[in-house]
Amino acid sequence: MYAPAGVKTSKDFPVPDRMKAWVLGDPGQLTLKDKPVPVPKKAEVLVRIDAVAICATDLENIYHGPPALIEGGLPFNKNWTPGHEYMGTVAALGPGVDEYRIGQRIAVEIHAGCGQCKRCREGMYTSCHNYGLNYGDVDKGHRANGFTTDGGFCEYQVNNINTLVAIADQMSDEEGTLVVTAGTAMYALTELGGLVAGESVVVTGPGPIGLMAVAVAKALGAHPVILTGTRDNRLKIGLELGADHVVNIRKEPDVVAAVKKLNGGKGVDYVVECSAAASAVNDAVRMVNRGGKVCLAAFAHEKVPVDVAHIVRNNIYLYGIRGEGKSATHRAEAFMRQKRFDATKIHTHTFPLDDLPTAIRYAKDRVDDAIKVVVKAKMNAAQKEAAE
Ligand SMILES: [Zn+2]
Ligand SMILES: [Zn+2]
Repeated sequence: MYAPAGVKTSKDFPVPDRMKAWVLGDPGQLTLKDKPVPVPKKAEVLVRIDAVAICATDLENIYHGPPALIEGGLPFNKNWTPGHEYMGTVAALGPGVDEYRIGQRIAVEIHAGCGQCKRCREGMYTSCHNYGLNYGDVDKGHRANGFTTDGGFCEYQVNNINTLVAIADQMSDEEGTLVVTAGTAMYALTELGGLVAGESVVVTGPGPIGLMAVAVAKALGAHPVILTGTRDNRLKIGLELGADHVVNIRKEPDVVAAVKKLNGGKGVDYVVECSAAASAVNDAVRMVNRGGKVCLAAFAHEKVPVDVAHIVRNNIYLYGIRGEGKSATHRAEAFMRQKRFDATKIHTHTFPLDDLPTAIRYAKDRVDDAIKVVVKAKMNAAQKEAAE
């Protein structure tokens, strides 16, 4: 039985020594293996992973490599376990930890940062200057589970206490996995963006981050909130999450004109770009008003020419976002706890952990209109039936 030196465990919460963990081989190749249950150090806990959602960034890591960075390079064939949007139950406490108790349900943020660089000291730990430096003689202690350290497609993982978010008892496991998604939208709009109530927002692209950006913008008092996209079924979910207007760009080819018409002609205060479309940046800087802000949240695959003169002439702010920073997940969880929006509307499928490749196929190919696909190590019979 699991009883490492210096680690607090509970007889009410027995932990095995070994666990099942998916491991990445060559690009796109995942194998279910047996690994030792990891051991929490100072300021860390062991989390039993109860549910983990698949993110578009997991697909980047698994099929292409970056932004995952393992031992200074690509993540392939390094016995590395991907997965980062998980929630679970605290199962053991590292030395000195009294902030959480064994048996407590938590969601997680991804980035612990190094805690010692300029950005970490500012609370911008997702922009840590020591990203991925956690091995050999460059070990700065940086952790981003599922990116620079082992992640959540397994049964147990260690997390720094600063990455934990206590969740309400009534929040389902599936909803718990969405705290970090909503937290990313919160970070984009508030800490990085400076949104104040009553300002206008366009979200381009109704993927999980885009839909959560709609929900969080509305909950923050933005008005109007406009969502653009190509799929009516996803735009409909955007309306349910609080969008005042939606624009299907297949039906409205001049999306900039359509957006401006919906907001009195001058453009909006913020655009959150979540589509990764080739035209997205040039469209976004024309949808935003003079002096407005554009947050780039999607990983574009191609390099596209951008109309820099238009950005300069119009005093437009353009900023990228990586992850969830400044503990924005805690504020996102507070919105979810108060039922200010129903994040579960974007969860569509649940599979057992053993069926991860099927779950990934659903997420990647959007099988059966999949949006957020979740895997769970312990699925009860009813859930299994529903998934089949
Ligand atoms: Zn993610
Ligand atoms: Zn740092």
